[in-house]
Amino acid sequence: KKEYDIIIIGGGPIGIACGLEAEKNNLSYLILEKGCLVNSLYHYPTNMTFFSTSEKLELDNIPFISNNPKPRKAEALEYYRRIATSNKLNIRLFEKVLSVKTSEGETHQVETEKDTYNARNVIVATGFYDIPNYLDIPGEDLPKVAHYYNDPHFYATQKVVVVGASNSAVDAALEIYRKGGDVTMIVRSPEIGERVKYWVRPDIINRIEEGSIKGLFNARLKEVREKEVIIETAAGEETLENDFVLLLTGYRPNFKFLQKLGIELSNDGRRIPAYNKDTMESNVPGIYLAGVICGGMETHKWFIENSRVHARMIVGDIVSK
Ligand code: FAD
Repeated sequence: KKEYDIIIIGGGPIGIACGLEAEKNNLSYLILEKGCLVNSLYHYPTNMTFFSTSEKLELDNIPFISNNPKPRKAEALEYYRRIATSNKLNIRLFEKVLSVKTSEGETHQVETEKDTYNARNVIVATGFYDIPNYLDIPGEDLPKVAHYYNDPHFYATQKVVVVGASNSAVDAALEIYRKGGDVTMIVRSPEIGERVKYWVRPDIINRIEEGSIKGLFNARLKEVREKEVIIETAAGEETLENDFVLLLTGYRPNFKFLQKLGIELSNDGRRIPAYNKDTMESNVPGIYLAGVICGGMETHKWFIENSRVHARMIVGDIVSK
């Protein structure tokens, strides 16, 4: 059976960057993606605007033309798709990787839902958008509760609770309010997150101050019921009438998958996977890490802008061997 120089797990922006780099260096490679092309981005909110300007989202200096300084989701899908199709990148979609077994001769056997492949090197670029940070509260599994937000129209005229105070939560609260939803934000901390996009932060703060959006700070969602929610605040417990709940409290990498591959995680709460900062090679020889996955629980640390360089670092190391 054919042995690839590199198998790349994950067809996100960084997996694609690795594919481009392998192609340029005449290495045989295959990208395996469990969903559609750039699956995480595809599941971002419809109206989402990136915080990065388009040139900072570019891969391999291929121009990303956008009419606005900060591109929208639809433009990013267009950009990354054109890169993949124009360069005829070798990608298999809707093929989830289940495990990687590393044998003595340092060949890696990559097992998917559909097939098994051999590779001399493996790049794990699986991102962090598949697993939400669950609150583990009663009612979290009710159909009216969602951990992903897509589009505001769905919530028009409805009583909506948004939990969280970072970009995803703030974007959703503002959009839903502007499409006629009755929005209450439940925020664990005393204020809106500091990393919220600098041009959006004043908007949400003003909407809360004027009372257009209700903001409950130092508060915790305790329970979700069919027609109401129970909230714990400094002043005691509150019951609110409610139709829908959006739990936008972040996402986390699939740590079980990393551990199954033999990759060690730091013992503190950050669970940072072990890798060499110069080469991105993990503690398992021949298995490399790329993209947002490298930050462990610190999912804000690496993003497209600052992790696209991983592709060149990794392929450079593979070529030098
Ligand atoms: P991902 O894009 O998450 O790609 C990982 C891929 O791996 C996914 O397609 C997934 O389906 C696939 N996968 C996972 N497990 C498996 C498996 N077992 N087998 C096969 N495939 C698998 N970054 C910026 O630089 N600028 C921005 O403005 C910006 N805005 C953002 C806005 C939002 C709302 C969010 C959520 C993120 C934003 N980011 C931004 C962060 C950026 O999108 C991520 O850092 C980026 O997607 C990381 O790319 P990646 O390739 O490492 O991971």
